[in-house]
Amino acid sequence: MSEVREPCVPRLFNEEGGARLLGARCRGCSTPYFPAPAHCRNPDCGGSDLEAHGFGGSGTLWSYSVANFAPPAPHKFDAPFRPYVIGVVDLDEGLRVVGQMAGDAEGMRVGARVELVVEPVYHEGGKAFTSWKFRLA
Ligand SMILES: [Zn+2]
Repeated sequence: MSEVREPCVPRLFNEEGGARLLGARCRGCSTPYFPAPAHCRNPDCGGSDLEAHGFGGSGTLWSYSVANFAPPAPHKFDAPFRPYVIGVVDLDEGLRVVGQMAGDAEGMRVGARVELVVEPVYHEGGKAFTSWKFRLA
């Protein structure tokens, strides 16, 4: 029996065919963005021709921090609260992204290879509410 999954925030990511962050790339200068902005923010570009791009795959853990306290509302979590890890990851596609790390702090180290995944953040009303996370590869 598989659980019903629903994104915590719609239209930011998907998981069909592999986890993807739904961002954009500038057609003028190739700068990657997540989430997609209205205009390119590269001061040397100034373009506004952005194309949708799904970022995923592997990356490198740039930095991380362990949160030993429960996040404030409106963030939700499954009780009882368990410390979790927030990572900053450089995806191989050129995007630096903040996200929760799957699992606990054991084995975390700057420079570790990670992969983008979509996993439950909390459960409510019989559903698993998901977000993107990074898992040690
Ligand atoms: Zn640009």
